[in-house]
Amino acid sequence: MPAINGQEFLRRIRHLQPEIWIEGKRITDVCNHEAFKDILKSKAALFDFQMKKDHMDLMTYNSPVSGERVGTSFMLPKTKEDLEKRRLSTQAWAKLSGGMMGRSPDYMNSCLMALGTASDHFQDSLSRGNNILQMYERARENDLTFAHTFVNPQVNRSMLYFEDEEHPISAKVVKETSDGIIIKGARLLATQGGITDELLVLPIGGKYISESFIYTFSIPSNTPNLRFICRESFRYRTSQFDHPLGARFEEMDTIVVFGDVFVPWDRVFLYNDYSISMQLASETRYFTFLLHQATARQVVKTEFLLGLAQMIVETIDIGSYSHVQGKVSEIISALETLKALLLSSEINAKPDKRGRMVPDVNPLSAAITSFPRLYPRFIEILETLGASGLISIPTEKDFDSPVRGDLNQYLQGASCEARDRTKLFRLAWDVCLSAFGGRQKQYERFFFGDPVRLESGLYNSYSKESAMSLAKFILDSEEIE
Ligand SMILES: Cc1cc2nc3c(=O)[nH]c(=O)nc-3n(C[C@H](O)[C@H](O)[C@H](O)COP(=O)(O)OP(=O)(O)OC[C@H]3O[C@@H](n4cnc5c(N)ncnc54)[C@H](O)[C@@H]3O)c2cc1C
Repeated sequence: MPAINGQEFLRRIRHLQPEIWIEGKRITDVCNHEAFKDILKSKAALFDFQMKKDHMDLMTYNSPVSGERVGTSFMLPKTKEDLEKRRLSTQAWAKLSGGMMGRSPDYMNSCLMALGTASDHFQDSLSRGNNILQMYERARENDLTFAHTFVNPQVNRSMLYFEDEEHPISAKVVKETSDGIIIKGARLLATQGGITDELLVLPIGGKYISESFIYTFSIPSNTPNLRFICRESFRYRTSQFDHPLGARFEEMDTIVVFGDVFVPWDRVFLYNDYSISMQLASETRYFTFLLHQATARQVVKTEFLLGLAQMIVETIDIGSYSHVQGKVSEIISALETLKALLLSSEINAKPDKRGRMVPDVNPLSAAITSFPRLYPRFIEILETLGASGLISIPTEKDFDSPVRGDLNQYLQGASCEARDRTKLFRLAWDVCLSAFGGRQKQYERFFFGDPVRLESGLYNSYSKESAMSLAKFILDSEEIE
């Protein structure tokens, strides 16, 4: 089945029944579980959106294999216009959650597209290149959804730490058979783990101490002995008035436990090959395509926060204070910078040896290393502008109770009624102060990896030659007469 609607997505997830644990209990019906039903509904809404007549041209394209409409995020970009279409489709989905759904399906679809269209990089005597190509095509033709994991458990991050080989903590290959590999241990931190069709397990990166850690594969979420352990849910109110974001976009994060999970060879894309693993990012450019998607979403999120800030300003009429103008301008500057970086990545895109139009990674790296600092600052600005307004936020039930009269009188805004003012400030609270908001801040800091190491990566990969030539020229040049 090509591009799907929400009903089909929910049907598949309901049918899967993966092993998901939350608060000590195993979930039997994920689609009706309090912690998951709303995020699944919100994801289903994305699929319904792509199937609407007015959106279909942007959100889908004709499959090169079947000719049927398939999701744009699976599209191999051959031109700059293709990149633009990819960006606009990501942003169309992101607008439905204000960029708060970090793991809309297009994120991992972009990764699979990059890996699948560079399948020759995986080619070895065991035809693993064919495996990744087939996986990409199967995902595209069936609109499959993916969670992913690329981090080992945070037990000991010292440079001198080597794990006990006998008792694995980090997931590793413990046995190889003629049919596949057996994985034992854990991985962090799969957002939406268990509520996607598949789990994509990517290399951890860096140097490996043993070949048993060098693997990449994808398996269905309901694979036997695969377990997802959830944190507590941050969707603790059903009312959208009370919890406007958490009630709809709480994605959940999970620890992934592999208890001797069997992965058949045709699901293995990379195994025990250090050089293929080390060149994965540079050859497939999957980081670059992921960055393009992520920055497109972050632009939407920044625009949403700007709108929210300005609504607070107007609601309590603080726009004439110069420091308030300055703070909102900070968000405006960041928004325009991020937009410029994203566009610059497309304008300076170049075709690679595989005929793929690859965005310029430098502006995207600049965006991803800036956002972990920018996002907490946006939150600080909203908190500063909203002040006690972010705390004096009665619930929907209070407005339906005998205290309604007091609320209507004392919580009105400069230009709106108390209920509307409270609704707006509850949204700001959910962005800034709720558990959902706190998780968003941590997400934007870390979802693409450790910002410290991302900055080192930018430092090491960025060509500084022309900047140094300029500095040398100024250093050596004679005084101008
Ligand atoms: C909300 C959220 C959702 C996430 N979703 C996913 C997901 O879906 N899939 C996924 O795979 N991952 C996900 N992650 C995990 C994310 O990839 C990691 O948080 C990130 O890679 C950093 O790894 P870590 O958390 O283990 O931090 P650590 O590596 O343990 O770092 C802890 C601290 O030590 C420092 N440190 C550690 N090692 C070094 C070093 N070698 N050099 C310098 N400093 C070092 C770091 O800078 C940091 O300050 C998610 C994270 C969050 C917060």
